[in-house]
Amino acid sequence: INYAEVKTYKNGKLDKIYKCGEKITDFYVRDISDRIITVNESNFSYAKIPIKREGKLYAVINVYSSEPFFFREENKKLLEELKREIEISLERVETIKKAYILKNSIERAYEWVLITDKNGNITYVNDAVVKISGYKKEEIIGKNPRIFKSGYHPKEFYKKLWETIKSGKEFNTIFVNRKKDGKLFYLETRIIPLKLPDGSVNFVSLGRDITAERVLMEENLRLKYFDILTELYNLNGFLAEAEKKLKGKEISALILMDLYNFSYINKRYGLKTGDEIIKEVAKRLKESIFERDVLGRFSGDEFGILFTNVKNERDLLKIEVKVLEIFDKPFRVGEEEIKVHVNGGIAVYPYDGSGIVELYEKATIALKEAKAEGLDKFKFFREDMELKLSQLARVAELVEEALKEKLFIFYYQPYFRTSDLSLGGFESLIRIKDKSGKIHFPNEFIEFLETSIYLGEFEEWALKEIIKRINSWKIPVSLNISAKTFRNGKFTEKVQKIAKDLKGTLIIEITERAFVENFEESKKVIKKLKELGNIKISVDDFGTGYSSLSYLSELDIDNVKIDISFVRKITQDRKTLAIVKGISNISKDLGLSTIAEGVETKEQFEILKNIGVDYVQGYLFEKPIPEEEVIKKYVKR
Ligand code: C2E
Ligand code: CA
Ligand code: CA
Repeated sequence: INYAEVKTYKNGKLDKIYKCGEKITDFYVRDISDRIITVNESNFSYAKIPIKREGKLYAVINVYSSEPFFFREENKKLLEELKREIEISLERVETIKKAYILKNSIERAYEWVLITDKNGNITYVNDAVVKISGYKKEEIIGKNPRIFKSGYHPKEFYKKLWETIKSGKEFNTIFVNRKKDGKLFYLETRIIPLKLPDGSVNFVSLGRDITAERVLMEENLRLKYFDILTELYNLNGFLAEAEKKLKGKEISALILMDLYNFSYINKRYGLKTGDEIIKEVAKRLKESIFERDVLGRFSGDEFGILFTNVKNERDLLKIEVKVLEIFDKPFRVGEEEIKVHVNGGIAVYPYDGSGIVELYEKATIALKEAKAEGLDKFKFFREDMELKLSQLARVAELVEEALKEKLFIFYYQPYFRTSDLSLGGFESLIRIKDKSGKIHFPNEFIEFLETSIYLGEFEEWALKEIIKRINSWKIPVSLNISAKTFRNGKFTEKVQKIAKDLKGTLIIEITERAFVENFEESKKVIKKLKELGNIKISVDDFGTGYSSLSYLSELDIDNVKIDISFVRKITQDRKTLAIVKGISNISKDLGLSTIAEGVETKEQFEILKNIGVDYVQGYLFEKPIPEEEVIKKYVKR
């Protein structure tokens, strides 16, 4: 080749010309297509090689030779190769340039960039990783990212992470990681599985250090929701937290407490002492509540507690006692012992409000009233709640005293055969005869007794008491038991033990509801009781809403007591009459006897007799009477 020239182009326009050798002719081809063009003349040869870069014409190489017919086929191939090689080299230069730019940008980026191979071994980290984590590059490369683990995330978290990225999907999360110096950092991260053309996989994790934002957010939250002095919730925090706890029918009680005359304490002992006392109050309150309760300090000397999951209304009474106990012990500050008095206003969910704000308002009203009443006074928002609770307190006292002083006594109401009015047996009905001689009826205390811790003790006493009577009178006596007792396995055990002494018939009256609530269990209990012999089962208050005639056949019972509400209506209402007839007939077919309770008129009695009810009981014949009268009137000597 004698002469070559290279023309470079920029945006389609000629840019520069490079020349080499001696020109032998002015011949050249203007056309600038992609193709290599060769010209073979007798006095010279010429070739044109267009070079492309990124799809566009980048340069044209013109070569001249004085040798005629020089660019024949074999040489033309060489030219093709040359063209390709130049183009590839140009491309490579481009790629290297780009990679260089990318790498340097990534290197200096603020974002966390970390790359691992498919086994999770770190192959690359940028400066940000070094800066954020505090490790040197050499300490990271080749390791597994678990060197950043803080212990915050559970195992399942990592399991899910790997499952996700191994399946080729991106994983987005906020890592709580640990730096080399042990401090935590929060990394908002995206992990991308990157599949390369050769099939290998790299995992690229891109992250942003959001620790500073987090800390700020938490600080804000703390200021918004917490009281600095005591670290309890402030009003905002309390309301938000308490609202979450109110649910369904579960009783919760909000008590607002105001320390009595606290501004005086501040003045007399100084603000610092005041603060110490406030902190001590917070501590005592905190120790006295359950995890599930919510405690807050709302202003200088106002505290609030939401007692959640209050089992029954009676427990509301304990709140006052509890709070008074907390403040009972004087507060020690230095040498001083300071007695702090308190007032409390209580609102009860769900009765006084369905939301916490409503409860708060009502408790505030109650608190105001309590303050007006003086030192250490507490008030419920609702007067009737207070009344109910004070009654409950009285009933509790009555029952406790009755147990302690043996004031429980049974009255006995006889029932009679309809056919000849001969005595069938007695139903025992409990009373409390207090020290003044006043008789208290079950409607006053039975509900309390049946839900109290005293029930077991009472039932045991009752069983023994009744068995004694049965044995000495030689007449069947029935005993009413609560649904709760009936389901309690211990009761059957007690009966098993005590009934060994039984020498007559003991009838156990259970309300219909007790069966229906737990049918399968009832079946078992009845079976056990009947196995003892001498024990009969009577279904009390039959027909009051739960009736299912089918269980009469499925349970091993002996007797059905037709409820007083039917007996009352039987003379005026044909439908009631039909129902009672039905109950009586079905019972008879099933081999059960029937008693109608609450018979007060002759008319009622006549109808019941006509229907074929077996026994009658009621004021028409006899009221419940004390033991002495039973003996005098009914027991044969
Ligand atoms: P109960 O088992 O349905 O008892 C019948 C109630 O009707 C008794 O009231 C009885 O005095 C009353 N009574 C009887 N005849 C008539 C009448 O002709 N007219 C009217 N209006 N009432 C009549 P008492 O003694 O006040 O008992 C009330 C409830 O207390 C009982 O209802 C029973 O559920 C419960 N109870 C009574 N004693 C016991 C007991 O020892 N243990 C348990 N667990 N509950 C008892
Ligand atoms: Ca009864
Ligand atoms: Ca009854």
